[in-house]
Amino acid sequence: MKIGVLALQGAVFEHVKSLQQAGADQVVTIKRPDELEGLDGLVLPGGESTTIGKLMNQYGLMEPIREMAKQGTPLFGTCAGLILMANRIEGQDSAHLGVMDILANRNSFGRQRESFETDLSIKGIEGEPYRAVFIRAPHIVDVGNGVEVLAKHQDRIVSAKQDNLLVAAFHPELTDDVRLHEYFLDMVRNRK
Ligand code: GLN
Repeated sequence: MKIGVLALQGAVFEHVKSLQQAGADQVVTIKRPDELEGLDGLVLPGGESTTIGKLMNQYGLMEPIREMAKQGTPLFGTCAGLILMANRIEGQDSAHLGVMDILANRNSFGRQRESFETDLSIKGIEGEPYRAVFIRAPHIVDVGNGVEVLAKHQDRIVSAKQDNLLVAAFHPELTDDVRLHEYFLDMVRNRK
């Protein structure tokens, strides 16, 4: 099982570590289109979605990643990664990858609460509540028919899944709870 982490900006190495802890055999960082070859799954980390989107276009990564998603390769977008995957972004005319049928709202949790932690109950994650770290996080305003809502915080959707696509508005790589990374690796295994 070979998993890539998009490494243009943001919380890259934290994801690498979490994926390794969750049991991924091989984790590689991705900066160029040819490095996508042979990946069984790809993580799009948090950071700043406008910057990452620009770099993806510059490096020629947008179209090949869009194609991977369409072919069924599991993608896991966290925070800015969620925004990159959304097919609609509130207040913006265009999307980035636009592979997932969700409407994303950026920076939804207000300035004075730019970052916070909270306990979530996530569908498919057993056991104790999941401690989630939100940093200038987006939320999902609306989902299409094929999208399963996995978690909400204050009535706002903060995690969802559509077939091979998984998103979280928070940063699962910043805690040592790797259950969501395990969940993603299960998606990869089930596909193989
Ligand atoms: N607010 C950022 C954006 O709009 C996302 C923040 C994050 O990834 N921590 O891209």
